[in-house]
Amino acid sequence: MKTFTCKEIMNNEGGCEMKFIGADPVNVASQCSKHVSSSTDEVHATMREMMLNPNHTEEDRKKWFAWFQSEWDKKEND
Ligand SMILES: [Zn+2]
Repeated sequence: MKTFTCKEIMNNEGGCEMKFIGADPVNVASQCSKHVSSSTDEVHATMREMMLNPNHTEEDRKKWFAWFQSEWDKKEND
């Protein structure tokens, strides 16, 4: 299992101290995306707008996930 904070998942472009724990990056990313999409505050706006942007393509999503996968790989297991 690995633990990521909301901040880390947002690449420190906002986010909060909430922690997401999971065995794979898809699971952790999906926990965080639920958290971000239910937020209404400024600190989550960057990611929320990216997720809700109708111009956000499958390719953008893949690019983001490739970045997150590399962060995941760098992180030690809990
Ligand atoms: Zn958060």
